[in-house]
Amino acid sequence: MNPSNIFAEKIALPLGDLFMKQSVASSLKFLMLSQWWSKDQLVNYQNLKLKELVKHAYRNVPYYKDLFYKNDISPDEIKCKEDLKKIPILTKEIIRKNIKSGDLIAKNIRNNKLVHASSSGSTGEPLKYYTTNYAYGFNLACAIRAWYWMGYQLGDRYVKISQYDRSKTKQIQDFLNNSKYLPAKELNEEYFKLIVKSINSYKPKIIRGYPDQMLFLSNYIKANNLDVYTPHALTTTGSTLRKSTRDRIESVFGVPIYDAYRCEGGANVSQCENRESFHSSVEYAITEITSKGKEVNYGEKGYLITTDLQNLAVPFIRYDTQDIVTKGTEECSCGRNLMTISKIDGRDSDFLITPSGKFLIDVQFDGWFPEVASVDQYQIYQKYRDLIIIRLVVNEIFDKKEENRILSYWQKYIGLDTKVEIEILKDIPLTKSGKRRYLIRDKSIILPF
Ligand SMILES: [Zn+2]
Repeated sequence: MNPSNIFAEKIALPLGDLFMKQSVASSLKFLMLSQWWSKDQLVNYQNLKLKELVKHAYRNVPYYKDLFYKNDISPDEIKCKEDLKKIPILTKEIIRKNIKSGDLIAKNIRNNKLVHASSSGSTGEPLKYYTTNYAYGFNLACAIRAWYWMGYQLGDRYVKISQYDRSKTKQIQDFLNNSKYLPAKELNEEYFKLIVKSINSYKPKIIRGYPDQMLFLSNYIKANNLDVYTPHALTTTGSTLRKSTRDRIESVFGVPIYDAYRCEGGANVSQCENRESFHSSVEYAITEITSKGKEVNYGEKGYLITTDLQNLAVPFIRYDTQDIVTKGTEECSCGRNLMTISKIDGRDSDFLITPSGKFLIDVQFDGWFPEVASVDQYQIYQKYRDLIIIRLVVNEIFDKKEENRILSYWQKYIGLDTKVEIEILKDIPLTKSGKRRYLIRDKSIILPF
């Protein structure tokens, strides 16, 4: 441990917690120990948290009180993961409706203690809900623990290639934590040049980004035969890491990628140092992997259903993420008894390409539309190479002014060589497999790779 690690762990993180009213430091300390617990210890901890959660939800959350009553479930019956099967699945649609009515928000938590949260990554429609400072910090600590698995320690230099601007408070935190956020608002030479220059001067231990951003950055580095600093490791999250993408990025940077999967409802899944499979943070959430309502066997694919054990503000009990994963074998050679997932199958960002060769990926839209209050659903359809249609399902606060604002933002963003149109729909149907596609490129438009 060098002085910057000691400063980050002993001073910066606890101070940050105090300032943000979080408890990342104590949660991380707990998680660094619990990762080596026996299977029984982990199951006992989950059962304890589950019983507390179910009792809390029944007492304080109208949606669950009603659900349990209608399905003749007593909260005392739910004692372990297997008992969860008695509780009907929670969907995004149910959450949206019951957040609006207030029925999914715990009545015993004061409004000023609710922390806004929103779905991210390529899964799900824009979904707004609430969490608590404690749950937010615990979830963040699970992510930090996974960074330790790839050789990172708090205080090490860390770069995130980001779609978003950082708030002033976050910038202070970044400075104290030795982390740097590099914007890649557009996937073009201007941004890539700056990113490579910053990486080379900052010399980070870890670089983190969305797979598609990292892919385009790697292609740019390779095409221009640039020298790029070799970090200790790379980490990706936000969409499925295709094999071809992994191979290309790893060959350009010369180090391994540790992939991770996160989603609303508490699933916090990361590859350990062995990179054989992913571990689910079982202290944060219970993960079920089901097909036709039944838990699948090892090596089989199923839907990831998650129960958030820490967020008491809006309890996610048996939330269907609509993501498909493959259940891992019972044991990982790293020795941890945290549940394993061998593959994240379900999420796949699509690409659009404009006449000038500019690529558009899912995260660019996903970083914008969830913040637009007048839009409930969106889908981007590229009909011709020079025509992109933004399909929207809107609500009562949408008007002509909003339409013009959305249109002019995206016309400017996408470029004048492409006509951008808005189409208002009553609903955007799901695919046959029940997934929502955010980006659709007509089959006639061929990508150059
Ligand atoms: Zn492992």
